[in-house]
Amino acid sequence: MIFPITDLLDVQESIEWMTRYFHPNGLRCPGCQATTEQARLFRTRKRGLADYRCQLCQQVYNLYTGTIFAGSNLDARRLVLLLRGICKGEPSTVLAQELSLSRLCVHRWRQRIQANALALCTQEALADEDTETDEMFQNAGEKRRKAQQSA
Ligand SMILES: [Zn+2]
Repeated sequence: MIFPITDLLDVQESIEWMTRYFHPNGLRCPGCQATTEQARLFRTRKRGLADYRCQLCQQVYNLYTGTIFAGSNLDARRLVLLLRGICKGEPSTVLAQELSLSRLCVHRWRQRIQANALALCTQEALADEDTETDEMFQNAGEKRRKAQQSA
């Protein structure tokens, strides 16, 4: 049975969660960093996403601008559930059914999100020579490469 989980989430709550998570300093103009109070609501899309036009530099932006979701027409509820499912390791076929997306679409988003997460991992070596258990999950690759070079 497929639960209508997307329909059960609130659009505005999802937008606010994404704003807090992806724009911790508040949604701002990507051109001049002006706040949304210094912008005019340009339009609100069918799925609740608001486009703003900056009154200082005229740039149009929205919640997804400057994120890997830029240009996407997925609504915020689906993106929240997609992120949640990918973080939990849900299979693409299950996510595709629950979110009414194609399996290929979910697979492509998973690849983009995981590649982005990998790119954001720190590449700095750990400070000491001894490896603690919890450090193995942080950046185990650096010490391994370092050990191979010195051998
Ligand atoms: Zn601006």
